[in-house]
Amino acid sequence: MIQFINVSKYYNDVKALDSVDCSIKDRSLTVITGESGSGKTTLLKLIGLMDKPTSGVVLIDGINYAEKSDKAGAYVRNTRIGFVFQDYKLDALYTIRENIEIPLIIRGVKRAKREEIVKMTLEQVNMQDKAFSLPSELSGGQQQRIAIARALVNDADIILADEPCGNLDEKNSRMIYDLLATLKSHKTVVVVSHNPALVQGVDNCIVLNNGLIQNDC
Ligand code: ADP
Ligand code: MG
Repeated sequence: MIQFINVSKYYNDVKALDSVDCSIKDRSLTVITGESGSGKTTLLKLIGLMDKPTSGVVLIDGINYAEKSDKAGAYVRNTRIGFVFQDYKLDALYTIRENIEIPLIIRGVKRAKREEIVKMTLEQVNMQDKAFSLPSELSGGQQQRIAIARALVNDADIILADEPCGNLDEKNSRMIYDLLATLKSHKTVVVVSHNPALVQGVDNCIVLNNGLIQNDC
């Protein structure tokens, strides 16, 4: 369970979030929508412990990591949080399987186990046949599926996707949203979208306007 209690976030004198209260249940799909500059990325970064609120508290399973050590926050980020970005952020010099394997190497997983996990994860996003391709040989939709696979590989239970379909056409967007929706059977999925109508199986929809939660859509 993720809870925001009276959370405000300022960047100098810019108010990015204004007294936000919301909660996100485990194993659910949440969509965040709102105009550009309304605070969507800021909200996602606070969930992902990539930043701290100026005031108020963000609780993950009841724990306020802003008052714990940096090490405790980093541990949660590395083991529980998977981030997916609009521009995929795959490493152009590495093959698809290597892109997925890198987080496992960093974590010190042995080679045989890595191969098993990479194979299983590629199957999960239905991209087995592209294991030895380079990112540049894939379409945008396929690259985003690989970015989701990379977010899954550490077995994170919170998947945060910031406008993952911003560069995709409607057909590929639906495919990505459907893939994210399947994950909610065992993960907490939060996705920023300009087109929430394309997202199926939404449990919770948050509309931001100038840093304020406007309503649930
Ligand atoms: P969205 O993702 O909805 O477009 P953001 O959360 O990125 O909105 O930004 C909300 C507000 O905070 C905007 O006014 C933006 O310019 C400002 N902002 C975001 N990040 C920073 C930053 N690192 N430094 C200064 N201002 C920022
Ligand atoms: Mg943003």
